[in-house]
Amino acid sequence: MSTHIIAIANQKGGVGKTTTAVNLAAALALKKKKVLLVDLDPQGNATTGSGINKSDIQTGVYQVLLGNCDIQAAKLFSKTGRYDVLPANRELAGAEVELVQEIARETRLKNALSAVKKDYDFVLIDCPPTLTLLTLNGLVAAKDILVPMTCEYYALEGISDLIATVRKVRQVINPKLDFIGVVRTQYSNKSLLSQEVSKQLHEHFGKKLFNTIIPRNVRLAEAPSFGQSAIHYDPKAKGSIAYLELANELLACYRNEKKGE
Ligand code: ATP
Ligand code: MG
Repeated sequence: MSTHIIAIANQKGGVGKTTTAVNLAAALALKKKKVLLVDLDPQGNATTGSGINKSDIQTGVYQVLLGNCDIQAAKLFSKTGRYDVLPANRELAGAEVELVQEIARETRLKNALSAVKKDYDFVLIDCPPTLTLLTLNGLVAAKDILVPMTCEYYALEGISDLIATVRKVRQVINPKLDFIGVVRTQYSNKSLLSQEVSKQLHEHFGKKLFNTIIPRNVRLAEAPSFGQSAIHYDPKAKGSIAYLELANELLACYRNEKKGE
């Protein structure tokens, strides 16, 4: 199996990018896949959510982007999730400014990944809620984009900016970049609005919408404070089961792709 490099992106904040990244990484690891989770967000939530203490990080994605360190040296192992993490800490916020002056600034992550991607089945990139240079590095390094969306009124608002950015990235630098799919998150089956927006997303995205819906589930919100994915923290929780299903659906997508469907 070749390496699937997936950017988890949506410039809208709080839609479940990090929750999806951490739980999908843990779910894929549980299915015996070798996974690298790249934390491209200066908030470092994917790092702490994987059980890694930000103050323990000597070198991380910041040093990698600036070319001061390679991924092999910077990666850490999530003992809870059983996957590798290229961690972030607050220094990463400065990378935006420092990278602007560098050459090949959009391809830094892609170049760094080329040396290690053979070691992994999946590389998941947790992007920040912006469309700036860090996310651009994610979109240039990735083959596929997975977009988490909440089922609320403004769900589709702003997605056109992401689509426009993806179009530009395709034209200029990464022609094979593709949407693997949109995943509905924080869904409440008691809410009529959730149901209505979910239907709209179905009409809008058709086959590109994952069948699996991630419910609003308190276990998913609690798990990061224990440095764990929900799948590890409470495997029987509805949210954990949904992320395991999402991992199955993702694997099936790639199997079908291989068959040329
Ligand atoms: P940001 O844009 O800030 O990076 P994000 O898109 O990565 O945010 P998350 O951090 O994953 O979003 O989620 C935002 C908040 O909602 C977090 O507190 C998280 O624990 C909670 N959350 C995410 N998904 C769910 C869910 N399905 N059910 C309940 N809470 C959730
Ligand atoms: Mg996040």
